[in-house]
Amino acid sequence: MSSLYRTNYHLRAHKRDAFIEFIKSLLLTPFVLHSAPKTDQLKSPGTKTLNHQFLNEVVAKGEADLDDPVDKNVERYSEILGCIEDLIEDHMIHDNSGMRDISRLTQLVPGVGKFFTGLPLKESFLDCNLKRSIASRTLVPPSFNDVKILVNLVNKIKIQVRHILNFAQVKAIAPTLKLITFDGDMTLYADGKDFARDSVLVALMIQLLAFDLYVAIVTAAGYGNDNVKYEKRLNGLLEGIQSSSALTLEQKKRFYVMGGECNFLYSYNPVTSNLVYIPEELYQPASMKLWSQDKKRIDTLLNVAHGCLIENCERMSITEKTQIIRKDKAVGVICKPGFELSREQLDELALATQKRLNNFQHVQRVRLVYDVVLPKKRKAEENEISQLSAQNRCEPIPFCAFNGGSDVWVDVGNKLIGVGYQKQQNKLDVSVLMEKFQAVGNQTLHVGDQFLSTGNDISTRSACCTSWIVGPEETAELLTELTQKIEDYRNI
Ligand SMILES: [Mg+2]
Repeated sequence: MSSLYRTNYHLRAHKRDAFIEFIKSLLLTPFVLHSAPKTDQLKSPGTKTLNHQFLNEVVAKGEADLDDPVDKNVERYSEILGCIEDLIEDHMIHDNSGMRDISRLTQLVPGVGKFFTGLPLKESFLDCNLKRSIASRTLVPPSFNDVKILVNLVNKIKIQVRHILNFAQVKAIAPTLKLITFDGDMTLYADGKDFARDSVLVALMIQLLAFDLYVAIVTAAGYGNDNVKYEKRLNGLLEGIQSSSALTLEQKKRFYVMGGECNFLYSYNPVTSNLVYIPEELYQPASMKLWSQDKKRIDTLLNVAHGCLIENCERMSITEKTQIIRKDKAVGVICKPGFELSREQLDELALATQKRLNNFQHVQRVRLVYDVVLPKKRKAEENEISQLSAQNRCEPIPFCAFNGGSDVWVDVGNKLIGVGYQKQQNKLDVSVLMEKFQAVGNQTLHVGDQFLSTGNDISTRSACCTSWIVGPEETAELLTELTQKIEDYRNI
């Protein structure tokens, strides 16, 4: 049983986030072993409703009634999350000393990434518990017939863990936030739709600009230097910014759009309410220009991706349902009208193309090193420039092959480059928005919906703080909390 479970787990690894799975597994113990408390007992003296402040005080003072099942459950969850907070603090200390690999958290969750802030998980849990009744959920014994119910309940816990992490991140970053970036589809608006003027997110994003923050949309949508297409997609927000009397011209100028993951940058002109294309030579770091202007290498890479997509569509017998779209810096598979692909089919296409491109670039690199770089090194008369040029061609071109929800795209470049790249010794110094606005990891927050290994937001995790939402409604919930926290902090 256990080996079968392990096999299935690894087969579904692209659908799991190791850190969230770790927290979820710890929270499952009180969920499974302890039955639901009576909600009546959550009431503080003299009130008829659940009292969050009262609960906070009880837990903070250690005054929980040990005979009260409600207090027990809240205390159990709080204790677990408090321990995880300590693990994160310890992990950050090790990481800052260059010893991330030996932290306790790395041992428990191999591959866990970098944290740019501590996370007040316990406090966030108490907030989320009030809204989502986490501690008062009932136990469902896992009989065969109950498996489906159990899985659904487990999934609810997974969602709640993500909420707890998001709210903890918002609390932690509010005092230092300087740059906030957003994915487009399914983060600010529905898949393939435009930013509507009546979206609640318009006012929230204007409020972020009013706090003197830099606000940028970093989207996969690649329309080159065609500002009209971006203006059409973002029309509701642009109109909102233009008509806002609360914002100064300088604040309005802090809005940017990055298209094609990292390839097309636009600034906002508050006088004309237009997006203004910024030529790539004005903002691209030198290490990005090595590949961004090498059309031949980009075409070769996209040809391989194109062939792989065709081959896999044929293998899955979905060629009739789909259409391949080729752009200058991207190639994708979209569905023909009246057809749609399952999430599994889209994941298969994304993962197969990721693997093919990684293998292709690895083989290219090995060939180049053995056929060009090493022979040239052996010749003392070889000039340095041609040798350097050959070495540059050894560096793989960054790409992003991802499941876009209803389509699959392979973009040259990725959001890690678009948002920022943490400068490290012996690593390429590639960075766009974080570099442009001089914002470091604990001053930058990226909000997106694609943080699994088949997604295009996950790459930002190694550069800055992130929040994983699943739709515009959750983005609104997150921004409401964030703007409140920033206001609270600035009023102190
Ligand atoms: Mg998205």
